[in-house]
Amino acid sequence: MEFAHHFRVDPDTFSLKAHDPGATFGLTREAAEAMRAEDLLRLRGLQERFWAQDRYALLVVLQAMDAAGKDGIVKHVLSGVNPQGIDVRVFKAPTQEELDHDYLWRCHKALPERGRIGIFNRSHYEEVLVVRVHPEILAAQHLPPGTAEDPEIWKHRYEDINAWERYLHRNGLRIVKFFLHLSKEEQRKQFLERIEDPEKNWKFAKGDMVKRGRWDAYQAAYEEAMAATSTRYAPWFVIPADKKWFTRAAVSRILVQTLEAIDPRYPAVSEAQARELAEARRLLNAEK
Ligand code: ATP
Ligand code: MG
Repeated sequence: MEFAHHFRVDPDTFSLKAHDPGATFGLTREAAEAMRAEDLLRLRGLQERFWAQDRYALLVVLQAMDAAGKDGIVKHVLSGVNPQGIDVRVFKAPTQEELDHDYLWRCHKALPERGRIGIFNRSHYEEVLVVRVHPEILAAQHLPPGTAEDPEIWKHRYEDINAWERYLHRNGLRIVKFFLHLSKEEQRKQFLERIEDPEKNWKFAKGDMVKRGRWDAYQAAYEEAMAATSTRYAPWFVIPADKKWFTRAAVSRILVQTLEAIDPRYPAVSEAQARELAEARRLLNAEK
């Protein structure tokens, strides 16, 4: 199955409503899990070469409404990869120090080094999502007078995010962005589970109901943001998230495809290195 093609956001035709959060594309749970297991092995091999090549970095952006399974992606999809090659960053509400800088500052500092895969669990996109839906957050951002009031502010933020991502691409950072698309009904079930199960109580935050109350505003903000920032160099993928086994299989497959497109290779051995290796072999053999 050619997943990327189904889920990739094309800015010209994109409509979030056209994406079904419950879609499974005829895949059974067993088939999806077998596919994911296979992709995890491929991911491991690709990541080894990616690390050895030391030319590109990969940034994986995860965005979603609460309880859509962002943490599960980190746990189940990236767990198979050598932990030394992975960098997971979680973005919560900004600290005072962060608010004293431009909004990309903390994201820029958190970018993965060459050879590594970075995961942003929430990201700079919160700046056109939660910040847009809740104007009091924008008002508290210490912006120069007139900035927060400018009706063009979101357009400007999309432009700046696109420019930043293009700059990163030109410097060898590859970016892939996932929106885990959960239905409102499935979120209701997930929240109830968090409330009923004492071991899941800690996952429930009081702000979660406030955000749920603004569901439609969030969907609209997501739709507009993704249409404005899905580019050739940093595409968005909308992944059905009502069935977590499907979400994980789809994300694994797209990550494999993304790394395969980079086609990482072990560095070629130079003549000088080949001579060193031959000499080391000779010495080691002579020890016996
Ligand atoms: P889960 O989905 O499992 O609940 P989570 O990502 O929601 O995990 P929380 O600690 O519940 O983790 O929430 C982090 C909060 O930080 C979110 O409400 C998010 O919107 C908020 N946040 C992230 N970035 C920003 C930002 N730039 N400005 C304001 N709030 C932000
Ligand atoms: Mg939360």
